[in-house]
Amino acid sequence: MSKIQIFHARSLVTSNQNFEVIDDAFMVVEGEMIREVGTWKRRPRIRAAKEVDLTYGLITPGLFNLHTHLPMTMLRGIAEDVDFHTWLYDYIFPVESKWVKPDFCQLGTQVALLESIRFGITYVADMYYFSESIGKVIEQMGVRALLGQHVFDPPAPDFANRDLAIEGVRKLAKKYKNHPKIQVSINPHAPYTCSQETLKACAATAKELNIPLMIHLAETAWEVGEIRSKFNMTPVEYISKGNILDVDHVLLPHSVWPSTSDFKLLERPNVTAILNPQCNAKLASGIAPVEEYMKRSIRFAMGTDGAASNNALDIFSELNFLAKIHHVTFKNMTGLPGPQLFSAATRTAAEAVGRAKTLGSLEPGKMADFIVIDLRAPHLTPFTDAYAHLIYAIRGQDVDSTYVGGKPLMKNRKILVADEAKIRAKAEGMWKKIRAHLHSIRRSK
Ligand SMILES: [Zn+2]
Repeated sequence: MSKIQIFHARSLVTSNQNFEVIDDAFMVVEGEMIREVGTWKRRPRIRAAKEVDLTYGLITPGLFNLHTHLPMTMLRGIAEDVDFHTWLYDYIFPVESKWVKPDFCQLGTQVALLESIRFGITYVADMYYFSESIGKVIEQMGVRALLGQHVFDPPAPDFANRDLAIEGVRKLAKKYKNHPKIQVSINPHAPYTCSQETLKACAATAKELNIPLMIHLAETAWEVGEIRSKFNMTPVEYISKGNILDVDHVLLPHSVWPSTSDFKLLERPNVTAILNPQCNAKLASGIAPVEEYMKRSIRFAMGTDGAASNNALDIFSELNFLAKIHHVTFKNMTGLPGPQLFSAATRTAAEAVGRAKTLGSLEPGKMADFIVIDLRAPHLTPFTDAYAHLIYAIRGQDVDSTYVGGKPLMKNRKILVADEAKIRAKAEGMWKKIRAHLHSIRRSK
């Protein structure tokens, strides 16, 4: 018989269809699944259950970070106060071409997952190189993931060409077929780095393997100009022509610059815009048209992008920032309510990756992926309103415990799935070597 745990919380945000919040709540978890939720005084009497007192805390579903580049924690802070194009072509690509190898990817992923678990993220959608190495760390550290392999036209650090990268995706998809926690995706990098042939090959592979596809899209005005001048199309039209929008689960990080005529193309239940508002602000890329997405019921979910362009992997901070820029940009104080916004990091995000049946909310029959937020902090006292706190007051550091499938990855702020001090020391060691190379790049500017 599976272990039964009954959690008792000050409050519980279900993220169910009605965005129900339960005060003085219980949640019964049997094995890795949720059996029941409700108010404490109506809890079932189960003799074998282990009672867990969380009356200092708020329970919510674990958060989804649907766009990141986990290993880029190793490059956090290397190029600041430059625009997107300079950042990518003058710093990131040159440094990556020299340093990105399996050991870099493993170490960077370890750091990123320590940070993610600390910040309450239980599902990450990654997009990088050497995905097999990244997958190994994800398995060790116990989060759920969409493990994505980059596909480029130009040679990449791991695969010399598109066909080899696609072969890599096939291998990965085979390895993780029916894996309980890891799904694989194919990730053509962006319209400006992928030809029509590459897009079509990726779309066909996604359909054949029945896996999601992720592609950076319409991130900057520069990209819009580039695709317009070369192909006389918008980036959205360009990927549509490459059959990308026909894949079952399509994730479109950024989606900052769709044209008015593009919206129609994005109004499809298989398509999700992944918003990375802080990265887009930091690199002066722009502000995604969230109001239009809301009006047209175009699905959107949250991501942080990599740590080199944000610079944190903190979904709470993204929600906070998105709500505020929504107010100031669209002069609309009510258009993006807290429950819907929080859903973009939980329930809606699970839909985006085809996992709505098992993930994204705290309801009977779903996986027990949840976090506990410590409400005893001064900035959360008094605890007035769950959604007001979740969007405007809570930060990643307020997460006290993170559970996946009923098992704690972090409990009372102690990481249980890795040796944190050892990982930090190794990362500092590798950074010393990267730093010398970076100085030579800076001197040549
Ligand atoms: Zn990205």
